Parts: sequence; structure tokens; C-alpha cells
Amino acid sequence: MPSIEARPKPELHPEFCKGCGRCIEACSVHHCIAEGRDIHAQSGLVPVAFHPDGCNGCNLCVEACPEPYALMAGDAAGPEEHPVVSRHRAPAPQTVPDERVAFAEGKTLVVKGAHAAAIGALLAGCRHFFGYPITPSTEGAELMAKLLPRLGGTFLQAVSEVAAVNMMYGCGGGGKPCMTFTSSPGFSLMLEGVSYLIGSEIPGVIVNVMRAGPGLGNIGPAQADIKLTCRGLGHGATHAVALAPSTPQEMLDHAMLAFELSFKYRNPVVILADGYLGQMTGRVRLPGALVKPGLPAWAVSGDAAHRKNVHTSIYLNEADQEAHDEHILAKYAAMTEAEQRADLYRCEDAEVLLVACNTPARMAKGAVRALRDEGVAAGLFRPQTIWPFPAKVLVPLLPRVRRLVVVEASEGQLEDELRLALSHAGAGQAIPIDHVRRQGGNLPSQREILEGVRGPRAPRATARKVVTA
Ligand code: SF4
Ligand code: SF4
Repeated sequence: MPSIEARPKPELHPEFCKGCGRCIEACSVHHCIAEGRDIHAQSGLVPVAFHPDGCNGCNLCVEACPEPYALMAGDAAGPEEHPVVSRHRAPAPQTVPDERVAFAEGKTLVVKGAHAAAIGALLAGCRHFFGYPITPSTEGAELMAKLLPRLGGTFLQAVSEVAAVNMMYGCGGGGKPCMTFTSSPGFSLMLEGVSYLIGSEIPGVIVNVMRAGPGLGNIGPAQADIKLTCRGLGHGATHAVALAPSTPQEMLDHAMLAFELSFKYRNPVVILADGYLGQMTGRVRLPGALVKPGLPAWAVSGDAAHRKNVHTSIYLNEADQEAHDEHILAKYAAMTEAEQRADLYRCEDAEVLLVACNTPARMAKGAVRALRDEGVAAGLFRPQTIWPFPAKVLVPLLPRVRRLVVVEASEGQLEDELRLALSHAGAGQAIPIDHVRRQGGNLPSQREILEGVRGPRAPRATARKVVTA
């Protein structure tokens, strides 16, 4: 029998410790084991803390431990020889990069906006869909239901939007590109899950084909979820890049971009369309390459290296939560710096600048042409990201601008984002902001926009309601 000094000390494997405390009691003489404080990232439990300095290797703690691998005698077989321990000690997971595969560039399709977004998702490598049908977004889900089984993918109609977004949590946590189509009431239901996606840094793409509200509202086109998307993505400090397509082509392009950004930042991305755009048929040019997804190092996957990954948004220790919040806020700052996008139409010398996105931007573009024919130096500033609002693109245009006119299908949600962005940028405060608005499933017409622009100017820095439903 080895002397006390020579007896090997036990080894604690905290990933297997459930924190029952029996070993603490067993070591009541030497006090080598104490209650732990931190949640273990793999187990989600709080293992004990082992302080081996005073340990004499008596192994009473090992005998008291009900877990086979939590406390192991120092002379037990090396942990690497234990199948369970060795699995948890697998090499660090490596990222398998995406591949881009040449595709039929230049080919065109004539498709609905919702179908274009579904095609974009498939070309981005999405093979997993979770959703619940809701008009006017159902066509996107319908196409995914037809195509995914043929492509070896999974289409799952969940019992509700709440279930769907939490299925995205599991799939996205596995490092797989996944998505849903929904519309405003369904989007509201998903927001708790979106907060969890953000908190756990899990990618996923949500296409919200907005309709009129509040409540059940109707199935007419609207932009009623801009506020919800930019300022209310569930509890906590939540933000996500929000893309605002205006054409079926952009529905496809933005869907592909959304997956790229979602994995780049490990954060969900929202595509905000409107009911008209979802149903609108248009020509769509296919890209030159499609994406064959790899596997991120952080994914929970079935091999030994990836299996030990854990995704969680729970940080019971306040300091840990604050550090996590700061990490997420730094990501928002990076998104704000790098992802502001806008399309400019005849803005170079514009004195009257229309601001519009989604389908209303199409009417606004027609209005700009008509105003130019009348000799009015009009232009269209079209945010392609509503969050982050593209202030960096807008502000350089402002020295020439005498008037901003926000055209939208909501009660002023886009205008609020514009005003907030200008305020944060410290720019444009002296420029009057007018608006042309419709609601209730109606879109502003070109005639209404022209009437709004031609009408009497609002007092400086005061919003004026020109048209309302
Ligand atoms: S081996 Fe003995 S002394 Fe060492 S921690 Fe376990 S019970 Fe305490
Ligand atoms: S007895 Fe085993 S499982 Fe219980 S706290 Fe101690 S090491 Fe962990």
C-alpha cells in the first residue's frame, strides 16, 4: 500500500458533476471540496470546486460520488481510456467553410416575391424550414414544402409560430441554415423565441410578409412591423439586421444575403416584406453561384468534436450576464458599422427627398419621375436595411435637401426610425419632415404622393399628415 504522501489524489471532471455535494460531506475533515458557484457550459449544472492542496488521497469522496466519471481515483485508468470522458475531451471543433458552387447565372424566372425569397433561401443552402401558414406569406412556405423533400431537406409545419421559432433554435444551434415564413400576427408570436435566438447567438432567417394590424387586422399589405422589428425583438437588448426588399429580385437577393449575415454575426436576420410584394410577380435573375453550407465550429453536431458544444442564453451570475450583453452589443455595433444599405434614385441633386421602402418605394419612384418632369429636383432614398438604418448613406445627401417626405404604409413607423437615425447622427434637424401615409392594408398611390409633395409645406421640423386612411 502506498504511503499517504504517495497516494494519488482524485481527479474532478466537472462536466460530469451534478453538484449533489456528497463528496463535500465525505471530505469533511480535510475540506478539499466546496460548493461551486458557476454553471458549467456543457452540463448546465453547478459542479463542486476541488482544492487538492490538503488532499491525502483517501478516496472517500470517490466512493461517495454517485456519478461514474465525476470524481475519479487518481490511479484509475486515464480519462482518455474512458469512453465517456474521452468523448468530452475530443479535439477542438474546427469550422468547415461554406463552398460556393457555380450555378446558372443569367437565367431568369418570373415568380412571386414570396417564391423568390424561398428560392433565394434554397440557393443559400437552407434545407430546413419550420413554420405555420399565414396569409400573405404562405406561398413561400408552400414552395419550400414542395422542394425541400426533393432536395433532401426538411419541411416541418409546426403546431404554432411559437413552436416553429423554437425548432429554428434547435436547427440553427446545429449550425444548419434554417428559416421560416410568417406574417405580422405570427411574427408577434415568435418574438420570445427570437430573443432566445439572439441571446444564444443562433442564426436563422425570418421572412415576415407584413399585413395590416393591430390584432388580426386583415391580409392587405402594410409596413406595420417596422417598430416591432427595429425596437422590439423580444425581451432584453435585442436587435437583428432587418432587410427591406422592394422587388421580387431583392426578395431573392436579400434571402441569400440574410443567411450570410445570420451566420456572420450568429444572430437572426429578419426580412421585412409587405403583402403586396409577397404576392407580386416579377422577373428574377438567378445568381452565378449557390452555397453548399459547411459546419461552424460552434455548432452542436453529431461528431465527437462538436457534440460538446452548448448554446444557452442563461447567465445566472450578473457579471457573466453583463459580459454577455456587452459582447452582443459589440456585435450590434459591428452590424451598424458594416451593414447599412440603401438604394439611391436621382438623389445626387435632390432637394425634395422621398424616403420609402418595400412596395411604397415603387410608387415613390414613379412620383420622383413625375416630379422631375415638372422640374422639381426630387429623389428617392430607399433604405434596404431598416435596422441598422442607413444614416451613413443619407447624411451626406442632406446639405442639398430642403424637405424630406416619408412615404409608408403605417402610422409613421418608418418616419420614427428616420428621425431616430438623424437624431443619433446629429444631422438634418433643420429639414422639415412631411409624410404620406396609408394604413389598414392600403398602400400610398403615386397620385397621393404627388399631392403630398405638391401641397403646402409643413412648418419647419414639424411633421404634417398629408394623407391618411
Ligand atoms: S481523497 Fe480524501 S482528502 Fe482528498 S478530496 Fe477526497 S475525501 Fe478529501
Ligand atoms: S459527489 Fe460526485 S456528483 Fe456529487 S458533487 Fe461530488 S463530484 Fe459532484
